Amino acid sequence: MGETGLIVSRLCFGTLTLSPLQAALPPEEGAELLSEAYSNGINFWDTAELYANYDSLRLAIKKIGKLPVLTTKTYAYTREGARSSLEKARRELDLDVIPIFLLHEQESSLTLQGHKEALDFFCEAKVRGIISAVGISCHTVAAVRAALQFEEIDVVHPIINYKGIGIKDGTIDEMLEATERIAAAGIGVYGMKPLGGGHLLADVEKAIHFVKNIEHLHSFAIGIASSEELEADLHYFRGTKPPRAIEEKLAGKKRRLQIEDWCAGCGACVQSCPQGALYLEETAGAGQLRAAVKASRCILCGYCGSSCPEFCLKIF
Ligand code: SF4
Ligand code: SF4
Repeated sequence: MGETGLIVSRLCFGTLTLSPLQAALPPEEGAELLSEAYSNGINFWDTAELYANYDSLRLAIKKIGKLPVLTTKTYAYTREGARSSLEKARRELDLDVIPIFLLHEQESSLTLQGHKEALDFFCEAKVRGIISAVGISCHTVAAVRAALQFEEIDVVHPIINYKGIGIKDGTIDEMLEATERIAAAGIGVYGMKPLGGGHLLADVEKAIHFVKNIEHLHSFAIGIASSEELEADLHYFRGTKPPRAIEEKLAGKKRRLQIEDWCAGCGACVQSCPQGALYLEETAGAGQLRAAVKASRCILCGYCGSSCPEFCLKIF
């Protein structure tokens, strides 16, 4: 992974799918799936404080008795916030050292400058040996380019898929040009959302081949929520065909954001969506506001779920 010294599998297990924001698997089931992935060579797991699934990862690590390379992320921007996120991760994962800590959803050099205190804290933690590498996750080309201005950044985790779905400020070609440049400078790069958050499910094979063939991409995280998905993804990754029964089962699967009827129209989710996909609309005749989603913009990340005080939002 760049110049971090960390050796990761090319396929990374994106654990957002296990979290309460998506499939909400019980920790024991999440751990089972993670250990199944590990025994199939996937030694790289991606999580975040937001995903609230440290329990699954801790149980999986106990089960396999070995340490995967794992990434977690925080929205912290102060020293105190960063310290609290780091201690929470170490405590809840039962780990002394966190391999990779990222600042979640950075947008540009300006947002990075605003998170400098947290970045500095993580760099100090790296010197003390309790983090191995620090970096950012992002949905913008601008943030990838900004990584070159911050020598502290070891790893970048941007959106990369063949249609460029979810890239907020450019095309897939611009993203590839930027990621190639930072990889050449020694920064580790692993992509997110190769399936466009579910929009490219109709052609998973093509979507996985696209990211697999990007030579400068050290790894890419794919969300996995079941044994069948794991088996199918491993087949696509290896260039073989999954059993027909699995393909048929997964073919009928279409993911979407569900907004429950009891939405109170408070608007908190509208502010939280990184893609600007949510808005408030008046319900017919009732004169009440409720949340609605512009499906073409939604990348099915599920992040809005954590902002809703009424628990109305979920990816199915
Ligand atoms: S609406 Fe929710 S699931 Fe869709 S992109 Fe926005 S935060 Fe993600
Ligand atoms: S945060 Fe929840 S209650 Fe508020 S508008 Fe969004 S879905 Fe509705």
